[in-house]
Amino acid sequence: MSLQQKLTEERRGRLAAERMLELKKAELFAANRKLGRHARQLSDEIVDTRALVESMGAENRKVKSDLHAAHEKIAVVERRLWHSIETIKDGFAFFDGDNHLIMANQAYLSIFDGLEVIKTGVNFVTILQALTDEGIINLGGVEPAAWRQRMMNRFQQQQPEPVVIQLWNGNYVKMVDQRGPSGDVVSLGLDITTTVHYERELKAARELAEAANRAKSAFLANMSHEIRTPMNGVVGMAELLDDTVLNEEQRLYTQTIKNSGEALLVIINDVLDYSKIEADRLELHNAPFDLERACQEVIMLLQPMAHDKGLELLLDYDLFLPTDLVGDAGRVRQVLTNLIGNAVKFTTEGHVLIRVTGVADAEKGQVAVHIAVEDTGIGIPEHMTSHIFGEFNQVENERNRQFDGTGLGLAITKRLVELMQGEIWVTSEEGVGSCFGFRIEMVANGDLDVAYPSLTSVMRRVMVVDDISANREILERQLAQLQLETIGVASNEAALAALDHTIDMVISDHKLPDVDALSLVTAIRSGGNDVPLMLLSASHVGLKEDARANGFAAMLQKPIPRRALFDTLKQIAPEKRPEVDIPPSAILRKMRVLAAEDNRTNRLVFSKMIKSLNITLEFAENGEEAVSLFKSFKPDLVFMDISMPRMDGKEATRAIRKIEAGTGGHVPVVAMTAHALPDDDKSILQAGLDHYLTKPLRRAAIEEHILLAQPDRTLPILPTEDQEAG
Ligand code: ADP
Repeated sequence: MSLQQKLTEERRGRLAAERMLELKKAELFAANRKLGRHARQLSDEIVDTRALVESMGAENRKVKSDLHAAHEKIAVVERRLWHSIETIKDGFAFFDGDNHLIMANQAYLSIFDGLEVIKTGVNFVTILQALTDEGIINLGGVEPAAWRQRMMNRFQQQQPEPVVIQLWNGNYVKMVDQRGPSGDVVSLGLDITTTVHYERELKAARELAEAANRAKSAFLANMSHEIRTPMNGVVGMAELLDDTVLNEEQRLYTQTIKNSGEALLVIINDVLDYSKIEADRLELHNAPFDLERACQEVIMLLQPMAHDKGLELLLDYDLFLPTDLVGDAGRVRQVLTNLIGNAVKFTTEGHVLIRVTGVADAEKGQVAVHIAVEDTGIGIPEHMTSHIFGEFNQVENERNRQFDGTGLGLAITKRLVELMQGEIWVTSEEGVGSCFGFRIEMVANGDLDVAYPSLTSVMRRVMVVDDISANREILERQLAQLQLETIGVASNEAALAALDHTIDMVISDHKLPDVDALSLVTAIRSGGNDVPLMLLSASHVGLKEDARANGFAAMLQKPIPRRALFDTLKQIAPEKRPEVDIPPSAILRKMRVLAAEDNRTNRLVFSKMIKSLNITLEFAENGEEAVSLFKSFKPDLVFMDISMPRMDGKEATRAIRKIEAGTGGHVPVVAMTAHALPDDDKSILQAGLDHYLTKPLRRAAIEEHILLAQPDRTLPILPTEDQEAG
């Protein structure tokens, strides 16, 4: 190779090297620039990071100081809480899920009196052990192991029932424990010593008060006994005196004595009853009884008062409601007497209607009986309707104040109904009338389904003659319930006009306005119609013979038990005319009544009171004589004084019941007593007596018992109008 070539090549190489150098320089420059940028970026980042670190440091310091403050706060709260827990005088402890003590306040620990084992971490079992071993608690005779077991079992429960323990020093502690969801237990030991002592004092005070109350009630009962006995003489003799020939002035005096005596008795009885209820000494004596009959007896008792005021007393007893129920007949009668008595008292014209309905529960064999007493009297202002059920509360207005009363009747009635688990209410409108209602549950004594003889086979249409529309409606509705057609008329005239051959039976009320019912028969017969007639009358039995003699097929005394009414209807229906014309005196005898009474005055009062009755009366002067007369005289009814010498009335009755045992006979024995304590009632009835009359005896009550006990084949007891006239 030539030099030229070498030079050229070298130049080329140099040029290439220079280009390369240039290139590298440019690359270096670019890299340098990049490096510079990166360095700048880095330094920026360093600046940022430094700022960040600085701010975090500040924050960290703040957090630290906050944490410190929080710790301090927690410590304060904890100190305060613990301080509070320490200051309460009741014990407080906290256990973990394994029953280890986490902490307990001083009050809790104090009962262990510094016992070393009782400290944080101790198990509840050990605590129980210490309690029994160290005699800290009073076990009251329970075995220590058994007691510990019981306490442990209780403690394990999720929500243990509080338990009261007694400490050695007589203090009482109520343990209340609560297990939390994690198993921890908060345990409180409340010192209830003062409460227990207070309750004890209260109990003692209550017992003292109850004893005083019992003494008060016994005092009242004894007082009433003491008052009743002489009252027997006062009221009885006034009643007898009233029957003698007196001039007008004397009659006024005797009637005033009698009325005042009776008013006083009502007050004594009310106060006595109320005090018995107050002293919780009034007990119910449930026994089978006939509710319909009880209603009728009360109505009969109040009938004279209603009659004097020209009021109608009506009973509407649901045809298909059972009448054989179990209850305290005496108390049911008392409630009815109060309500019906008030209704009659506060009504001057119109009627008083007693409606008895009920719902039977076949499963329970019970009947929810609902009795309403409606009147058309003066009514009660609306704002007074609850007030009148309070003791001694009455409506204080002019209209109301014309009537006597103590204001205790409704208070007693309400308490009695409540005692029978029932309720009582009233609705009323002033000047229009009131309706008192009560509801009680009673067990049915026997069948819940009430059955009647089928009347449709013997009759289809019945005519009811009664001027009182409410009376007519009740009877018509009852007959319609037995599928009979009825036609109701208000007078004899209307009856005669409506009578035709489609009528199978006529039921007539005795007292019609235009003409006496007896003449209805004559009129009907003279028209050639021989339809059977039945007479209903509120007056006495003596009318029965009269009615038969006058061509009535039967006569029933109002209020009439429905069963008796329907039985009689069936009997006298045309196909089966009953034996109407048997001469009565041929087979009848007088009813025999025995009265045992040791007191001469009382015997005199008794005999005078019933002297007008057509009965044979014998007296026994003590229990022994009563028993022997029972055998020889064979009475149909016995009145028995309770306290008598030699043999008392209860013993005599027991002897009589023994004589009757196995014979199937049961002569009613009516106690005559001045006692009025509930225990007396019980022991009297237990001795086998059926009813009792409290002294002073009233003629009406004696008569009522005689009439109720009259056997079938005996002569009429009450004098007929002819006899009275004669
Ligand atoms: P008493 O009849 O002895 O006053 P009660 O407790 O039986 O006491 O009755 C309280 C009061 O309730 C009566 O005084 C009377 O104001 C009112 N009262 C009760 N029943 C009736 C009624 N049927 N009609 C109007 N007011 C009545």
